[in-house]
Amino acid sequence: MKNSGNTNKSEPTIIPRPSHNVSRNEISRSALKVLYRLHQSGFQAFLVGGGVRDALLGLHPKDFDIATDASPDEVRALFSNCRLIGRRFRLAHVRFGREIIEVATFRAATDANEKHADVEHDDEGRILRDNVYGKIEEDVWRRDFTCNALYYNIADFSIWDYVGGAKDVEQRRLEFIGDPDTRIREDPVRMLRAVRFAAKLDFRIASDVKESILKNRELLSNVPAARLFDEFLKMFQAGCAQKTFELLREYGLFRMLFTETDKELDKDGEFLRFVHMALENTDARVAADKSVTPMFLLGVFLWAPVKAFAEKLRSKEKMSISQSLSLASYEIAGLQQSRVSIPRRFTTPMREMLAMQPRFDVNRGKRASKLLEHRRFRAAYDFMMLRAKCGDFDSDLAQFWTDVQLQNSDQRAVSFELASKPTTSKRRRPRKRRKPKVSSA
Ligand code: ATP
Ligand code: MG
Repeated sequence: MKNSGNTNKSEPTIIPRPSHNVSRNEISRSALKVLYRLHQSGFQAFLVGGGVRDALLGLHPKDFDIATDASPDEVRALFSNCRLIGRRFRLAHVRFGREIIEVATFRAATDANEKHADVEHDDEGRILRDNVYGKIEEDVWRRDFTCNALYYNIADFSIWDYVGGAKDVEQRRLEFIGDPDTRIREDPVRMLRAVRFAAKLDFRIASDVKESILKNRELLSNVPAARLFDEFLKMFQAGCAQKTFELLREYGLFRMLFTETDKELDKDGEFLRFVHMALENTDARVAADKSVTPMFLLGVFLWAPVKAFAEKLRSKEKMSISQSLSLASYEIAGLQQSRVSIPRRFTTPMREMLAMQPRFDVNRGKRASKLLEHRRFRAAYDFMMLRAKCGDFDSDLAQFWTDVQLQNSDQRAVSFELASKPTTSKRRRPRKRRKPKVSSA
């Protein structure tokens, strides 16, 4: 790979095809189709962002972003399977089955002090909208990190590098384009992106970026909670959850997202171990291509705050442990929403999973046996097993719940010491007579 060492100029270093290792084999057929169609229609067409970066690193990119000088309407006219989306950033989505190729028109770099018709900043300089189109040499400056600003040109398969991105990829360095404070003020989510990319790519975060994050982390509180949920998914479900978590804690960002969790982590080493194990588990599942649900990890993050709150509730009012956990999950999830909004389709099962935990303490009788049929059993069981691994749940009981799942109904009846004899035997023990109801007469 050729080193580009140039910064801040409007002529790119062009790395010809023989001098880099981005092969078309690494680019999805759909992305290639879009690139070629744009090019054949007389537009510039570049693969940009993670697709180029990951291919250079020898990782197999999964997500492809395209940049072009065609306007969104021109893109739409070229593809029947195209939809324009977004208000903040107007983009074209070209759909091929389940794959979506994102096509963005070059943006002109904007300044918080400049007044453009279709650009909007808030008082802190955060970009609210950016729909001023421009040329590639303008587009490059609005991208976040140097490694994300490499453009692969479909016309001759060369890479255009305006910001020394190729060198930073080679040296595995995460560096902002421009002044870190300004770039973070424009979009505080870039702090989370820095940590996410450093974890995923095994990059070193440049010291000026680190300093700037430590100084500006409070700005995350200005970001809409819904956007932080999207970012939460990217950080914790992409296979590098554990590393990302460690960096988030190191940079003081985790507390900006999960304040109550962070407080408990500082108090309780066992809870920290529990969280680490859950993250390790999540990463292993992603690596094995197994499904992961955000509700499980959210339940893990909120577990210690929920338990603490449930205890408080029980000290004030008489209620069962399950009831107090359910109520506490509701309250803590509510508090959490102001930072990272969690859709109800995840909070409801999470609450159930947490409130079910005390039911694993009882392994005798009908109610215990019924637990196996609960629609949330699997998640609640996995959660309990994780607790057992950390000494937060009795290991013999955990083994019981593992074994009983493999048993047939007769064996289960014995395990749960159910009153009725196994069904193979015709004779049934006579039922206990119910106490007669006390009549009010
Ligand atoms: P991955 O797809 O692996 O998460 P990516 O770099 O492709 O990584 P995307 O979120 O898909 O990330 O964005 C594509 C490109 O758009 C980025 O590489 C970057 O150039 C630009 N970009 C995305 N989000 C921002 C942002 N918040 N600020 C500046 N540039 C951004
Ligand atoms: Mg991408």
